[in-house]
Amino acid sequence: MAASPDGTSLVWLRDDLRLDDNPALAEAARLGNPTTVVYILDEESEGVRPLGAAARWWLHHSLDALAAGLEARGSRLVLRRGPAGDVIRKLATQTNAGNLFWNRRYGLPERNIDAALKDWAAENGIEASSFQANLLFEPWTVRTGAGGYYKVYSPFWRACLDSQDVRDPLDAPEALPEPAASGRGLPASDALAGWKLLPASPDWSGGLAATWEPGEQGALHRLTDFLDGPIEEYGTGRNIPGVEGTSRLSPHLRFGEVSPFRVWREIRRRHPRKVPSDVGIFRSELGWREFNWHLLYHNPDLATRNFRPAFDNFQWASPNQQELEAWQQGRTGYPLVDAGMRQLWQTGWMHNRVRMAAASFLVKNLLTDWRIGEEWFWDTLVDADAANNPANWQWVAGSGADASPYYRIFNPVTQSKKFDPEGRYLRQFLPELAGVEGKAIHEPWTAGTDGYPTPLVELPESRERALEAYQNLKDG
Ligand code: FAD
Repeated sequence: MAASPDGTSLVWLRDDLRLDDNPALAEAARLGNPTTVVYILDEESEGVRPLGAAARWWLHHSLDALAAGLEARGSRLVLRRGPAGDVIRKLATQTNAGNLFWNRRYGLPERNIDAALKDWAAENGIEASSFQANLLFEPWTVRTGAGGYYKVYSPFWRACLDSQDVRDPLDAPEALPEPAASGRGLPASDALAGWKLLPASPDWSGGLAATWEPGEQGALHRLTDFLDGPIEEYGTGRNIPGVEGTSRLSPHLRFGEVSPFRVWREIRRRHPRKVPSDVGIFRSELGWREFNWHLLYHNPDLATRNFRPAFDNFQWASPNQQELEAWQQGRTGYPLVDAGMRQLWQTGWMHNRVRMAAASFLVKNLLTDWRIGEEWFWDTLVDADAANNPANWQWVAGSGADASPYYRIFNPVTQSKKFDPEGRYLRQFLPELAGVEGKAIHEPWTAGTDGYPTPLVELPESRERALEAYQNLKDG
Protein backbone atom coordinates (compact mmCIF):
# COMPACT_ATOMS: atom_id res chain seq x y z
CA MET A 1 0.00 0.00 0.00
CA ALA A 2 1.35 3.41 -0.86
CA ALA A 3 0.34 5.74 1.95
CA SER A 4 -0.06 9.34 1.09
CA PRO A 5 2.09 11.63 3.23
CA ASP A 6 -1.01 13.54 4.26
CA GLY A 7 -2.79 10.32 5.23
CA THR A 8 -4.44 9.54 8.50
CA SER A 9 -3.06 8.37 11.84
CA LEU A 10 -3.78 5.11 13.58
CA VAL A 11 -3.31 4.95 17.37
CA TRP A 12 -3.34 1.49 18.85
CA LEU A 13 -4.07 1.55 22.58
CA ARG A 14 -3.17 -1.51 24.63
CA ASP A 15 -2.15 -1.36 28.30
CA ASP A 16 -2.49 2.43 28.33
CA LEU A 17 -6.21 3.09 28.62
CA ARG A 18 -5.92 6.78 29.40
CA LEU A 19 -5.83 10.20 27.78
CA ASP A 20 -3.44 11.75 30.29
CA ASP A 21 0.27 11.22 29.65
CA ASN A 22 -0.40 9.07 26.64
CA PRO A 23 2.49 9.85 24.27
CA ALA A 24 1.03 7.87 21.35
CA LEU A 25 -2.23 9.76 21.51
CA ALA A 26 -0.48 13.07 22.17
CA GLU A 27 1.64 12.61 19.06
CA ALA A 28 -1.41 11.94 16.89
CA ALA A 29 -3.05 15.04 18.38
CA ARG A 30 0.05 17.11 17.65
CA LEU A 31 0.11 15.91 14.05
CA GLY A 32 -3.58 16.71 13.67
CA ASN A 33 -4.43 14.28 10.86
CA PRO A 34 -7.75 12.42 11.08
CA THR A 35 -7.11 9.66 13.60
CA THR A 36 -8.42 6.18 14.25
CA VAL A 37 -8.05 5.05 17.85
CA VAL A 38 -8.35 1.30 18.23
CA TYR A 39 -8.30 -1.27 21.01
CA ILE A 40 -7.94 -4.91 20.00
CA LEU A 41 -9.05 -7.89 22.04
CA ASP A 42 -6.40 -10.37 20.99
CA GLU A 43 -6.97 -13.88 22.22
CA GLU A 44 -5.42 -15.55 19.22
CA SER A 45 -1.85 -14.39 18.70
CA GLU A 46 0.70 -16.98 19.69
CA GLY A 47 1.89 -16.71 23.28
CA VAL A 48 -0.37 -13.84 24.32
CA ARG A 49 -1.80 -14.79 27.71
CA PRO A 50 -5.61 -14.53 27.73
CA LEU A 51 -6.95 -12.30 30.49
CA GLY A 52 -8.43 -13.87 33.60
CA ALA A 53 -12.08 -13.42 34.50
CA ALA A 54 -11.64 -10.53 36.96
CA ALA A 55 -9.38 -8.65 34.56
CA ARG A 56 -11.96 -9.10 31.80
CA TRP A 57 -14.55 -7.46 34.05
CA TRP A 58 -12.15 -4.58 34.62
CA LEU A 59 -11.31 -4.25 30.95
CA HIS A 60 -14.98 -3.92 29.99
CA HIS A 61 -15.52 -0.98 32.33
CA SER A 62 -12.19 0.59 31.53
CA LEU A 63 -12.93 0.57 27.79
CA ASP A 64 -16.34 2.02 28.48
CA ALA A 65 -14.73 4.90 30.38
CA LEU A 66 -12.06 5.38 27.74
CA ALA A 67 -14.62 5.52 24.93
CA ALA A 68 -16.54 8.21 26.81
CA GLY A 69 -13.34 10.21 27.38
CA LEU A 70 -12.42 10.04 23.69
CA GLU A 71 -15.90 11.04 22.59
CA ALA A 72 -15.87 14.04 24.92
CA ARG A 73 -12.82 15.25 22.99
CA GLY A 74 -14.23 14.71 19.53
CA SER A 75 -12.78 11.26 18.86
CA ARG A 76 -14.12 7.73 19.18
CA LEU A 77 -12.85 4.30 20.14
CA VAL A 78 -12.89 1.51 17.57
CA LEU A 79 -13.06 -1.97 19.05
CA ARG A 80 -11.81 -4.94 17.09
CA ARG A 81 -11.18 -8.54 17.96
CA GLY A 82 -8.64 -10.95 16.47
CA PRO A 83 -4.90 -11.44 15.97
CA ALA A 84 -3.63 -7.90 16.58
CA GLY A 85 -1.10 -7.83 13.71
CA ASP A 86 -3.75 -8.76 11.15
CA VAL A 87 -6.27 -6.32 12.56
CA ILE A 88 -3.83 -3.39 12.46
CA ARG A 89 -2.69 -4.19 8.92
CA LYS A 90 -6.27 -4.25 7.73
CA LEU A 91 -7.30 -1.11 9.56
CA ALA A 92 -4.22 0.84 8.46
CA THR A 93 -4.92 -0.09 4.85
CA GLN A 94 -8.61 0.65 5.14
CA THR A 95 -8.04 4.12 6.64
CA ASN A 96 -5.08 4.97 4.43
CA ALA A 97 -2.88 5.48 7.49
CA GLY A 98 0.41 7.27 7.05
CA ASN A 99 1.32 7.04 10.73
CA LEU A 100 0.98 4.31 13.27
CA PHE A 101 1.44 5.14 16.96
CA TRP A 102 1.58 2.97 20.06
CA ASN A 103 3.08 2.89 23.55
CA ARG A 104 5.53 0.11 24.18
CA ARG A 105 4.83 -3.27 25.83
CA TYR A 106 7.48 -5.56 27.26
CA GLY A 107 6.33 -9.19 27.05
CA LEU A 108 7.94 -11.23 24.28
CA PRO A 109 4.80 -12.27 22.35
CA GLU A 110 3.64 -8.63 22.36
CA ARG A 111 7.07 -7.39 21.29
CA ASN A 112 7.09 -9.90 18.45
CA ILE A 113 3.76 -8.60 17.18
CA ASP A 114 5.01 -5.02 17.37
CA ALA A 115 8.32 -5.79 15.65
CA ALA A 116 6.56 -7.56 12.77
CA LEU A 117 4.22 -4.60 12.39
CA LYS A 118 7.13 -2.17 12.30
CA ASP A 119 8.67 -4.16 9.45
CA TRP A 120 5.38 -4.27 7.60
CA ALA A 121 4.85 -0.55 8.09
CA ALA A 122 8.32 0.26 6.76
CA GLU A 123 7.69 -1.88 3.66
CA ASN A 124 4.42 -0.08 3.08
CA GLY A 125 5.52 3.49 3.53
CA ILE A 126 3.84 3.90 6.88
CA GLU A 127 5.75 5.50 9.71
CA ALA A 128 5.40 3.42 12.87
CA SER A 129 6.44 5.17 16.09
CA SER A 130 6.46 3.74 19.59
CA PHE A 131 6.76 5.54 22.92
CA GLN A 132 7.68 4.97 26.54
CA ALA A 133 4.58 5.24 28.68
CA ASN A 134 4.15 2.33 31.05
CA LEU A 135 7.54 1.98 32.74
CA LEU A 136 9.63 4.77 34.26
CA PHE A 137 12.81 3.08 33.08
CA GLU A 138 13.17 1.12 29.86
CA PRO A 139 14.48 -2.41 30.49
CA TRP A 140 17.40 -2.11 28.06
CA THR A 141 18.66 1.09 29.67
CA VAL A 142 19.36 -0.26 33.16
CA ARG A 143 22.53 -2.32 33.06
CA THR A 144 25.02 -3.62 35.62
CA GLY A 145 28.68 -2.67 35.34
CA ALA A 146 29.26 -5.97 33.55
CA GLY A 147 26.54 -5.16 31.02
CA GLY A 148 23.93 -7.62 32.25
CA TYR A 149 20.61 -6.92 33.95
CA TYR A 150 20.09 -6.67 37.68
CA LYS A 151 18.89 -9.77 39.50
CA VAL A 152 18.84 -8.08 42.90
CA TYR A 153 16.34 -5.36 43.65
CA SER A 154 18.26 -2.82 45.80
CA PRO A 155 21.15 -2.16 43.40
CA PHE A 156 18.64 -2.16 40.55
CA TRP A 157 16.56 0.58 42.09
CA ARG A 158 19.62 2.58 43.10
CA ALA A 159 20.93 2.36 39.54
CA CYS A 160 17.59 3.54 38.17
CA LEU A 161 17.40 6.54 40.46
CA ASP A 162 21.06 7.47 40.14
CA SER A 163 21.38 7.18 36.39
CA GLN A 164 18.21 8.62 34.92
CA ASP A 165 15.71 11.39 35.45
CA VAL A 166 12.06 10.55 35.28
CA ARG A 167 10.50 12.57 32.48
CA ASP A 168 7.53 14.87 33.08
CA PRO A 169 4.09 13.55 32.13
CA LEU A 170 2.24 14.99 29.15
CA ASP A 171 -1.14 16.61 29.65
CA ALA A 172 -4.17 15.01 28.04
CA PRO A 173 -4.93 16.58 24.66
CA GLU A 174 -7.78 19.06 25.03
CA ALA A 175 -9.23 18.07 21.69
CA LEU A 176 -8.45 15.10 19.51
CA PRO A 177 -8.36 15.01 15.73
CA GLU A 178 -11.54 13.95 13.98
CA PRO A 179 -11.88 10.21 13.44
CA ALA A 180 -10.35 8.89 10.24
CA ALA A 181 -12.71 7.71 7.57
CA SER A 182 -12.23 5.46 4.57
CA GLY A 183 -14.21 5.66 1.36
CA ARG A 184 -16.96 3.79 3.15
CA GLY A 185 -17.21 6.05 6.17
CA LEU A 186 -15.84 5.53 9.66
CA PRO A 187 -14.29 2.14 10.38
CA ALA A 188 -16.76 -0.22 11.99
CA SER A 189 -16.42 -1.06 15.65
CA ASP A 190 -17.46 -4.16 17.56
CA ALA A 191 -20.03 -3.61 20.28
CA LEU A 192 -18.33 -3.88 23.69
CA ALA A 193 -21.20 -5.94 25.07
CA GLY A 194 -20.68 -8.44 22.26
CA TRP A 195 -17.26 -9.30 23.66
CA LYS A 196 -18.96 -10.77 26.71
CA LEU A 197 -16.23 -9.70 29.09
CA LEU A 198 -18.68 -9.45 31.96
CA PRO A 199 -19.68 -12.52 33.93
CA ALA A 200 -23.21 -13.78 33.47
CA SER A 201 -25.10 -16.67 35.05
CA PRO A 202 -23.89 -16.28 37.66
CA ASP A 203 -22.87 -12.66 37.76
CA TRP A 204 -20.31 -12.67 40.56
CA SER A 205 -19.12 -9.13 39.97
CA GLY A 206 -21.22 -7.29 42.60
CA GLY A 207 -18.33 -7.09 45.08
CA LEU A 208 -15.98 -5.82 42.40
CA ALA A 209 -18.41 -3.11 41.31
CA ALA A 210 -18.87 -2.03 44.94
CA THR A 211 -15.10 -1.74 45.43
CA TRP A 212 -13.75 -0.21 42.24
CA GLU A 213 -14.21 2.56 39.75
CA PRO A 214 -12.32 1.36 36.65
CA GLY A 215 -11.11 4.06 34.28
CA GLU A 216 -9.01 7.17 34.37
CA GLN A 217 -11.31 9.11 36.72
CA GLY A 218 -11.29 6.29 39.23
CA ALA A 219 -7.52 6.12 39.06
CA LEU A 220 -7.22 9.83 39.70
CA HIS A 221 -9.56 9.61 42.69
CA ARG A 222 -7.45 6.82 44.19
CA LEU A 223 -4.23 8.67 43.57
CA THR A 224 -5.49 11.90 45.13
CA ASP A 225 -7.06 10.19 48.15
CA PHE A 226 -3.86 8.30 48.78
CA LEU A 227 -1.51 11.25 48.36
CA ASP A 228 -3.74 13.38 50.59
CA GLY A 229 -3.56 10.96 53.49
CA PRO A 230 -2.35 7.38 53.81
CA ILE A 231 1.00 7.97 52.08
CA GLU A 232 2.17 9.99 55.08
CA GLU A 233 2.17 6.80 57.17
CA TYR A 234 2.73 4.32 54.40
CA GLY A 235 5.73 2.71 56.13
CA THR A 236 3.54 1.22 58.85
CA GLY A 237 0.09 1.52 57.25
CA ARG A 238 1.03 -0.66 54.29
CA ASN A 239 1.38 -3.68 56.57
CA ILE A 240 -2.02 -3.46 58.21
CA PRO A 241 -4.68 -5.17 56.13
CA GLY A 242 -7.55 -3.85 58.27
CA VAL A 243 -6.97 -0.23 57.20
CA GLU A 244 -6.71 1.42 53.78
CA GLY A 245 -3.01 2.10 54.17
CA THR A 246 -1.99 1.48 50.56
CA SER A 247 -2.88 3.21 47.33
CA ARG A 248 -4.96 0.47 45.67
CA LEU A 249 -3.63 1.78 42.39
CA SER A 250 -2.54 -1.66 41.17
CA PRO A 251 -5.40 -2.39 38.74
CA HIS A 252 -5.26 1.18 37.45
CA LEU A 253 -1.53 0.82 36.83
CA ARG A 254 -2.07 -2.62 35.31
CA PHE A 255 -4.42 -1.23 32.66
CA GLY A 256 -2.50 1.98 32.26
CA GLU A 257 -5.33 4.18 33.49
CA VAL A 258 -2.78 6.20 35.38
CA SER A 259 0.72 6.81 34.19
CA PRO A 260 3.60 6.00 36.54
CA PHE A 261 5.08 9.29 35.33
CA ARG A 262 2.00 11.12 36.61
CA VAL A 263 2.25 9.36 39.99
CA TRP A 264 5.93 10.29 40.18
CA ARG A 265 5.32 13.91 39.26
CA GLU A 266 2.47 14.30 41.76
CA ILE A 267 4.76 13.05 44.51
CA ARG A 268 7.49 15.45 43.44
CA ARG A 269 5.05 18.33 43.25
CA ARG A 270 4.02 17.72 46.84
CA HIS A 271 7.58 17.13 48.04
CA PRO A 272 9.78 19.35 45.86
CA ARG A 273 12.78 19.31 48.19
CA LYS A 274 13.11 16.14 50.14
CA VAL A 275 11.01 13.02 49.84
CA PRO A 276 9.93 11.92 53.36
CA SER A 277 10.86 8.38 54.22
CA ASP A 278 7.28 7.00 54.05
CA VAL A 279 6.92 8.48 50.60
CA GLY A 280 10.28 7.00 49.62
CA ILE A 281 9.04 3.57 50.71
CA PHE A 282 6.01 3.99 48.47
CA ARG A 283 8.20 4.97 45.55
CA SER A 284 10.33 1.91 46.13
CA GLU A 285 7.20 -0.24 45.73
CA LEU A 286 6.80 1.32 42.31
CA GLY A 287 10.42 0.24 41.91
CA TRP A 288 9.42 -3.40 42.50
CA ARG A 289 6.95 -3.05 39.65
CA GLU A 290 9.76 -1.80 37.44
CA PHE A 291 12.09 -4.57 38.64
CA ASN A 292 9.55 -7.28 37.85
CA TRP A 293 8.85 -5.92 34.39
CA HIS A 294 12.56 -5.77 33.65
CA LEU A 295 12.80 -9.39 34.83
CA LEU A 296 9.99 -10.38 32.49
CA TYR A 297 11.63 -8.54 29.63
CA HIS A 298 14.78 -10.59 30.15
CA ASN A 299 12.91 -13.80 31.11
CA PRO A 300 9.80 -14.02 28.95
CA ASP A 301 8.66 -17.31 30.48
CA LEU A 302 8.63 -16.04 34.07
CA ALA A 303 5.09 -17.38 34.59
CA THR A 304 5.97 -20.94 33.68
CA ARG A 305 9.67 -21.45 34.44
CA ASN A 306 11.58 -21.23 37.69
CA PHE A 307 13.87 -18.24 37.56
CA ARG A 308 16.35 -20.33 39.56
CA PRO A 309 16.71 -23.58 37.60
CA ALA A 310 17.70 -25.45 40.79
CA PHE A 311 13.98 -25.44 41.60
CA ASP A 312 13.23 -27.53 38.51
CA ASN A 313 13.96 -30.60 40.64
CA PHE A 314 11.79 -29.57 43.56
CA GLN A 315 9.42 -32.33 44.64
CA TRP A 316 6.05 -30.63 44.90
CA ALA A 317 3.30 -32.73 46.43
CA SER A 318 0.91 -33.94 43.74
CA PRO A 319 -1.95 -31.46 43.70
CA ASN A 320 -4.62 -32.41 46.20
CA GLN A 321 -7.87 -31.12 44.73
CA GLN A 322 -9.64 -30.92 48.06
CA GLU A 323 -6.87 -28.90 49.66
CA LEU A 324 -6.58 -26.67 46.63
CA GLU A 325 -10.30 -25.92 46.66
CA ALA A 326 -10.22 -25.20 50.38
CA TRP A 327 -7.43 -22.69 49.76
CA GLN A 328 -9.23 -21.12 46.80
CA GLN A 329 -12.49 -20.78 48.70
CA GLY A 330 -10.97 -19.51 51.93
CA ARG A 331 -11.66 -22.62 54.01
CA THR A 332 -8.19 -23.65 55.18
CA GLY A 333 -9.03 -23.10 58.83
CA TYR A 334 -6.38 -20.38 59.14
CA PRO A 335 -8.24 -17.06 59.42
CA LEU A 336 -5.66 -14.78 57.81
CA VAL A 337 -5.35 -17.02 54.75
CA ASP A 338 -9.10 -17.49 54.54
CA ALA A 339 -9.91 -13.80 54.94
CA GLY A 340 -7.42 -13.00 52.18
CA MET A 341 -8.76 -15.59 49.78
CA ARG A 342 -12.30 -14.35 50.38
CA GLN A 343 -11.26 -10.74 49.93
CA LEU A 344 -9.79 -11.82 46.61
CA TRP A 345 -12.97 -13.61 45.56
CA GLN A 346 -15.26 -10.80 46.64
CA THR A 347 -13.29 -7.76 45.52
CA GLY A 348 -10.71 -9.00 42.99
CA TRP A 349 -7.88 -7.69 45.16
CA MET A 350 -5.96 -8.80 48.24
CA HIS A 351 -3.77 -6.86 50.60
CA ASN A 352 -0.06 -7.41 49.90
CA ARG A 353 0.82 -8.76 53.34
CA VAL A 354 -2.00 -11.26 53.09
CA ARG A 355 -1.01 -12.19 49.53
CA MET A 356 2.36 -13.19 50.93
CA ALA A 357 0.82 -15.24 53.74
CA ALA A 358 -1.76 -16.92 51.50
CA ALA A 359 0.80 -17.73 48.83
CA SER A 360 3.28 -19.05 51.37
CA PHE A 361 0.59 -21.29 52.84
CA LEU A 362 -0.18 -22.85 49.45
CA VAL A 363 3.42 -23.26 48.34
CA LYS A 364 4.96 -24.30 51.63
CA ASN A 365 2.37 -25.67 54.03
CA LEU A 366 0.50 -27.43 51.21
CA LEU A 367 3.67 -27.99 49.16
CA THR A 368 1.87 -26.96 45.99
CA ASP A 369 3.71 -25.82 42.88
CA TRP A 370 3.67 -22.00 42.81
CA ARG A 371 2.38 -22.04 39.22
CA ILE A 372 -0.95 -23.41 40.40
CA GLY A 373 -1.40 -20.49 42.78
CA GLU A 374 -0.20 -18.05 40.16
CA GLU A 375 -2.92 -19.22 37.79
CA TRP A 376 -5.63 -18.81 40.41
CA PHE A 377 -4.50 -15.27 41.15
CA TRP A 378 -4.29 -14.60 37.41
CA ASP A 379 -7.94 -15.51 37.07
CA THR A 380 -9.24 -13.73 40.17
CA LEU A 381 -7.16 -10.54 40.57
CA VAL A 382 -8.30 -7.33 38.92
CA ASP A 383 -4.63 -6.28 38.96
CA ALA A 384 -3.38 -9.63 37.51
CA ASP A 385 -0.19 -8.52 35.89
CA ALA A 386 2.02 -10.52 33.53
CA ALA A 387 5.18 -9.56 35.41
CA ASN A 388 4.12 -8.80 38.97
CA ASN A 389 2.07 -11.92 39.49
CA PRO A 390 4.63 -14.57 38.49
CA ALA A 391 7.55 -12.60 39.93
CA ASN A 392 5.85 -12.33 43.32
CA TRP A 393 4.82 -15.97 43.33
CA GLN A 394 8.40 -16.92 42.56
CA TRP A 395 9.54 -14.53 45.28
CA VAL A 396 7.36 -16.33 47.82
CA ALA A 397 8.38 -19.77 46.53
CA GLY A 398 12.08 -18.94 46.72
CA SER A 399 12.60 -19.77 43.06
CA GLY A 400 12.63 -16.13 41.94
CA ALA A 401 15.11 -13.30 41.61
CA ASP A 402 16.09 -11.72 44.92
CA ALA A 403 13.50 -14.04 46.44
CA SER A 404 12.53 -14.66 50.00
CA PRO A 405 14.60 -17.71 51.01
CA TYR A 406 12.61 -20.91 50.76
CA TYR A 407 13.08 -21.67 54.45
CA ARG A 408 11.28 -18.44 55.37
CA ILE A 409 7.81 -19.82 55.96
CA PHE A 410 5.14 -17.32 56.95
CA ASN A 411 3.20 -18.45 59.98
CA PRO A 412 -0.38 -17.29 59.31
CA VAL A 413 -1.26 -17.20 63.01
CA THR A 414 1.77 -15.13 64.02
CA GLN A 415 1.20 -12.86 61.02
CA SER A 416 -2.41 -12.18 61.87
CA LYS A 417 -1.64 -11.54 65.55
CA LYS A 418 1.04 -9.09 64.52
CA PHE A 419 -0.64 -7.22 61.67
CA ASP A 420 -4.32 -7.55 62.53
CA PRO A 421 -4.17 -7.69 66.33
CA GLU A 422 -7.81 -6.70 66.88
CA GLY A 423 -9.01 -9.01 64.12
CA ARG A 424 -10.58 -6.13 62.20
CA TYR A 425 -9.63 -7.53 58.82
CA LEU A 426 -10.56 -11.06 59.82
CA ARG A 427 -14.01 -10.01 61.01
CA GLN A 428 -14.61 -8.10 57.78
CA PHE A 429 -14.26 -11.15 55.59
CA LEU A 430 -15.10 -14.03 57.92
CA PRO A 431 -18.63 -13.49 59.21
CA GLU A 432 -18.56 -16.92 60.94
CA LEU A 433 -15.96 -15.50 63.32
CA ALA A 434 -17.72 -12.22 64.05
CA GLY A 435 -18.78 -13.47 67.48
CA VAL A 436 -15.36 -14.73 68.56
CA GLU A 437 -13.89 -12.44 71.16
CA GLY A 438 -10.31 -11.39 71.83
CA LYS A 439 -7.22 -13.15 70.58
CA ALA A 440 -9.05 -16.43 69.92
CA ILE A 441 -10.03 -15.04 66.53
CA HIS A 442 -6.52 -15.81 65.32
CA GLU A 443 -6.85 -19.45 66.42
CA PRO A 444 -10.57 -20.20 66.33
CA TRP A 445 -10.02 -23.88 67.14
CA THR A 446 -9.07 -22.81 70.68
CA ALA A 447 -12.54 -21.25 71.08
CA GLY A 448 -14.45 -24.30 69.86
CA THR A 449 -16.14 -22.28 67.10
CA ASP A 450 -18.95 -24.00 65.25
CA GLY A 451 -19.20 -23.56 61.53
CA TYR A 452 -15.58 -22.66 60.90
CA PRO A 453 -13.33 -25.26 59.25
CA THR A 454 -10.74 -27.08 61.32
CA PRO A 455 -7.20 -26.43 60.07
CA LEU A 456 -6.36 -28.28 56.87
CA VAL A 457 -2.84 -29.11 58.06
CA GLU A 458 -0.89 -28.64 61.27
CA LEU A 459 1.55 -25.76 60.98
CA PRO A 460 4.65 -27.34 62.60
CA GLU A 461 4.30 -30.62 60.70
CA SER A 462 3.66 -29.04 57.32
CA ARG A 463 6.52 -26.66 57.94
CA GLU A 464 8.87 -29.57 58.62
CA ARG A 465 7.69 -31.30 55.44
CA ALA A 466 8.43 -28.17 53.41
CA LEU A 467 11.88 -27.78 54.94
CA GLU A 468 12.66 -31.42 54.22
CA ALA A 469 11.64 -31.02 50.57
CA TYR A 470 13.90 -28.00 50.37
CA GLN A 471 16.77 -29.89 51.99
CA ASN A 472 16.35 -32.69 49.44
CA LEU A 473 16.56 -30.11 46.67
CA LYS A 474 19.82 -28.79 48.04
CA ASP A 475 21.26 -32.27 48.59
CA GLY A 476 19.99 -33.66 45.27
P1 FAD B 1 0.76 -0.08 47.06
O1 FAD B 1 1.35 -0.59 48.31
O2 FAD B 1 0.02 1.19 47.13
O3 FAD B 1 1.94 0.04 46.01
C1 FAD B 1 1.88 0.92 44.89
C2 FAD B 1 2.14 0.16 43.60
O4 FAD B 1 3.43 -0.40 43.62
C3 FAD B 1 1.20 -1.00 43.38
O5 FAD B 1 -0.01 -0.57 42.82
C4 FAD B 1 2.00 -1.85 42.43
O6 FAD B 1 1.94 -1.39 41.11
C5 FAD B 1 3.42 -1.65 42.95
N1 FAD B 1 3.77 -2.72 43.90
C6 FAD B 1 3.55 -2.76 45.23
N2 FAD B 1 4.05 -3.91 45.76
C7 FAD B 1 4.58 -4.58 44.73
C8 FAD B 1 5.24 -5.84 44.61
N3 FAD B 1 5.47 -6.63 45.67
N4 FAD B 1 5.63 -6.23 43.39
C9 FAD B 1 5.43 -5.45 42.31
N5 FAD B 1 4.81 -4.26 42.35
C10 FAD B 1 4.40 -3.84 43.55
N6 FAD B 1 0.83 -6.83 42.05
C11 FAD B 1 0.25 -6.54 40.88
O7 FAD B 1 0.19 -5.38 40.49
N7 FAD B 1 -0.28 -7.54 40.10
C12 FAD B 1 -0.24 -8.85 40.47
O8 FAD B 1 -0.71 -9.71 39.73
C13 FAD B 1 0.35 -9.16 41.73
N8 FAD B 1 0.38 -10.45 42.18
C14 FAD B 1 0.96 -10.73 43.39
C15 FAD B 1 1.02 -12.06 43.83
C16 FAD B 1 1.60 -12.38 45.05
C17 FAD B 1 1.69 -13.81 45.50
C18 FAD B 1 2.11 -11.35 45.86
C19 FAD B 1 2.75 -11.66 47.19
C20 FAD B 1 2.07 -10.03 45.44
C21 FAD B 1 1.51 -9.70 44.20
N9 FAD B 1 1.45 -8.37 43.73
C22 FAD B 1 0.89 -8.09 42.51
C23 FAD B 1 2.16 -7.30 44.44
C24 FAD B 1 1.36 -6.50 45.48
O9 FAD B 1 0.69 -7.36 46.34
C25 FAD B 1 0.35 -5.55 44.83
O10 FAD B 1 0.97 -4.76 43.83
C26 FAD B 1 -0.26 -4.60 45.86
O11 FAD B 1 -0.84 -5.32 46.91
C27 FAD B 1 -1.27 -3.72 45.19
O12 FAD B 1 -1.91 -2.89 46.09
P2 FAD B 1 -1.66 -1.34 46.10
O13 FAD B 1 -1.87 -0.79 44.74
O14 FAD B 1 -2.49 -0.77 47.20
O15 FAD B 1 -0.12 -1.24 46.45
